[in-house]
Amino acid sequence: MNIVVCVKQVPDTTEVKINPETGTLIRTGVPSIINPYDHFALQTALELKKKHDFRVTVVSMGPPQARSVVQLGLALGADEGVLLSDMAFAGSDTWATSYALSRAVKKIGKTDMIFCGMQAIDGDTAQTGPAIAQHLGMAQITFCETVEVDGRRIIARKQIDGGHEIMECRAPVLLTMIMHNEYTPGYPSFLAVHGSLAKPYHVWNAEDIGAEAQYLGLKGSPTQVNRIYPPAQREKAEMFSGSGPAAAERILKIMRKEHFIGE
Ligand SMILES: Cc1cc2nc3c(=O)[nH]c(=O)nc-3n(C[C@H](O)[C@H](O)[C@H](O)COP(=O)(O)OP(=O)(O)OC[C@H]3O[C@@H](n4cnc5c(N)ncnc54)[C@H](O)[C@@H]3O)c2cc1C
Repeated sequence: MNIVVCVKQVPDTTEVKINPETGTLIRTGVPSIINPYDHFALQTALELKKKHDFRVTVVSMGPPQARSVVQLGLALGADEGVLLSDMAFAGSDTWATSYALSRAVKKIGKTDMIFCGMQAIDGDTAQTGPAIAQHLGMAQITFCETVEVDGRRIIARKQIDGGHEIMECRAPVLLTMIMHNEYTPGYPSFLAVHGSLAKPYHVWNAEDIGAEAQYLGLKGSPTQVNRIYPPAQREKAEMFSGSGPAAAERILKIMRKEHFIGE
């Protein structure tokens, strides 16, 4: 089978601040990382590659520096890397981004599985994966913790409110991955990083993927952003020390006062 993994480069959110005047993210000097859910999606795809001898292609859309997340995918074991980079993509919302990514999948050729993260930790919409499936007319299973393959059957354990569901479908399918508890992100050795530089790596622009300009960038983006602002600061936490029944009584009093529990 051929697998495509969509990985996004995101600012390390522990370092991100919002400019209170413009309401925009201050990205200057903020280190970038692979979106953590995409890292998990990538590792899941690479485990399937190892087990079944599948082919894995990593795709990212972003500025030239997003090469680093594609290169990470190659160093971890992917066979081929693609970076979609073109000023024509700038200003794309989730619909235009998913259109461009779906065009890249078409150019890559026969694809049996597409892996995405559940959501990006900066944009946070969780729309891009499902929208790629929509553009390609492909089945999708979202919020997956594990994925197994048996012939053309794809079996996914999917998280739902209060439990999980086992879903099954036939390839081709798009899966969005959440992280299960036992997951630890893997990082490549120096030798693997060095070796990855010899693997096929392509930078494609809008023309290369046959994308129509009207569906890209701001022009192709139906989303209207009214305002972005940091959440209002809540009242400060009240700290107190103590233990035993006196402390419990005090907590109960606060919970009653805040109407978390009845009188
Ligand atoms: C009007 C408007 C203009 C914008 N302009 C810009 C801009 O100029 N530059 C910019 O960087 N962002 C821009 N954005 C943000 C951009 O649209 C989103 O970051 C992008 O569409 C992905 O959405 P998300 O971050 O919510 O990802 P989600 O939908 O939460 O991501 C889910 C999954 O989709 C995949 N995915 C998402 N994005 C990518 C990607 N780029 N490459 C590969 N896989 C991906 C990953 O697997 C990810 O885990 C703009 C947004 C709007 C609304």
